[in-house]
Amino acid sequence: MNLEQIKYHTCPFDQEEGILLTDIEEMLPETGDNGDLQYYCLAGKHTFQLDDDDDDE
Ligand SMILES: [Zn+2]
Repeated sequence: MNLEQIKYHTCPFDQEEGILLTDIEEMLPETGDNGDLQYYCLAGKHTFQLDDDDDDE
C-alpha cells in the first residue's frame, strides 16, 4: 500500500483538504469499525471516513 497516493482526500462535508490518519510511524492507516480509511479535515477540525463506493472523480 502506497500511503502517499491516499494521504489526502477532499472532505465531503466542506470540500476542504483532509489528511489520512495513520499510526505514529505513518506506516499503517487507521480505519473505522468497517475498515474505512479515516481522515482529519484540517479546516473543519473533524474526522471523516471514506465510503467504499466513493468514486472521487
Ligand atoms: Zn471538513
